[in-house]
Amino acid sequence: MDRYQIVVIGGGPAGITLAKILGKRKSMAVVRPENFSMVYCAMPYVVEGILPIEKTFKKDELVIDAGAELIRSAARKIDFDNKVVHLENSTDIGYDKIILATGAVPFIPPIPGVELDGVLGFKTEEDMRAINRMVENGATGAVVVGAGAIGVELAQALSNKGLDVHLVDMFDSIMPNMADPEMVQEAHVELEASGLTMHLGSKVVEVKGEGFVSDVLLENGETIHFGRDEETGADECPGIVVFAAGMKPVVSLVEGSRVKTGRDGIVVNDRMETSVPDVYAVGDCIQFTSGITGEVISGKLATNAVPMSKILGFNLLGQDRRYKGYYNGAATKIGKYFIGGTGMSERNARQAGIDVVTGDSEVTTKFPIMPGAKKLRLKLVANRSTRKVIGAQIASEEPVTDKIDLLTFAIQKETEVSELTTLSYAAQPYQSYFPAANLVVMAAEKILTKLEHE
Ligand SMILES: Cc1cc2nc3c(=O)[nH]c(=O)nc-3n(C[C@H](O)[C@H](O)[C@H](O)COP(=O)(O)OP(=O)(O)OC[C@H]3O[C@@H](n4cnc5c(N)ncnc54)[C@H](O)[C@@H]3O)c2cc1C
Repeated sequence: MDRYQIVVIGGGPAGITLAKILGKRKSMAVVRPENFSMVYCAMPYVVEGILPIEKTFKKDELVIDAGAELIRSAARKIDFDNKVVHLENSTDIGYDKIILATGAVPFIPPIPGVELDGVLGFKTEEDMRAINRMVENGATGAVVVGAGAIGVELAQALSNKGLDVHLVDMFDSIMPNMADPEMVQEAHVELEASGLTMHLGSKVVEVKGEGFVSDVLLENGETIHFGRDEETGADECPGIVVFAAGMKPVVSLVEGSRVKTGRDGIVVNDRMETSVPDVYAVGDCIQFTSGITGEVISGKLATNAVPMSKILGFNLLGQDRRYKGYYNGAATKIGKYFIGGTGMSERNARQAGIDVVTGDSEVTTKFPIMPGAKKLRLKLVANRSTRKVIGAQIASEEPVTDKIDLLTFAIQKETEVSELTTLSYAAQPYQSYFPAANLVVMAAEKILTKLEHE
């Protein structure tokens, strides 16, 4: 039986990050069943036809050239007492330390009809190929459940492919976890104008069909019916139903073991250690807490999986780094709008019982006198009692991630609103608003004024 100092179960962003740090310094194996690790974030753009599918396949060399062995199989069972992994390919491997990086799969609610052909999640190469096949075979309509970033990006892709697309979400606005309704209103209008039908504040309760899906029933009694394409008369699924309404951690390998799990995954401490010595977990399969409130929240993002894997990797080389928690800086593109959010929205904060004060600002992406200047809007959220910044949302017709990252850093450093008013910034006609005003400073000043008048 081969034995490694480190075995990683899972070859997603977490597994690859660990291989890059540890591969040349430890004897290491990364176990992964798929033919390819994927650039998941780009999957909607394959459906849209902007990218060939091969562009989303990560090269095995990312792991192999990093010095780790890539084992193309799945772990069937782990004997945590004897430190042995039983693989699907009937071999066993031993380990000194094991890292669980098994990721998450789309949550498909247990409602009638989800086993029908044409109903699927959106995570794997197979999901992407199945959707493309159905589109090519003449599907006329689609229901995308979940108006978060993945759902919105996929809905737009299917709409651009000519399908009649319905977007359903329980919340009354799109991007409900990232932004407050007024920050996504323009994007919402843009989605509707592009032909998408929105069903917000609504829930899918049943899927019907004979063999393949033909009708989707909503809680409010509405039915979405997929009609056949009369021209092709195709004998295939006339419609596609995709659940993009949250992810479920993959924790089957620890079920019945001493490795503790919670409602959102494997429980780890801030050094990514589980409840069993020499067993670690990182990425989408773990449960962790908000860096702001300390409460358990979801943070199933590659931009969380990679930093926590780095922390673990360097700790296994003798450092002592700690993971502070999720801030969930993220972004999407809806029509011509780029929308980003970080920390807590006003709605999230109020739901968590935090008294907040908000400030908004609007400038342009270039000096307004320059050709091509676009609107740039910010909403800043601060905790009224601590006066610390706890959230921000930005909408613009230009990319927003750099500004979101700046504001995430402000939140991470527990910056007070008054400190943000002193931000030192750069200005240039092609790249910013006039030196007279800065987006972040303006919003912070508004909050400070509100606080001073209380
Ligand atoms: C469509 C889509 C778009 C996304 N867009 C973004 C984005 O724009 N920005 C962002 O930050 N995040 C995005 N994400 C989320 C991001 O992809 C995940 O957070 C990230 O992939 C998590 O990395 P991971 O390594 O923890 O898990 P995964 O990438 O899920 O990898 C888990 C790995 O474990 C393997 N595995 C599971 N069980 C076993 C087993 N028993 N044996 C061996 N291997 C096993 C899996 O096969 C897989 O290789 C997106 C996700 C999707 C689906």
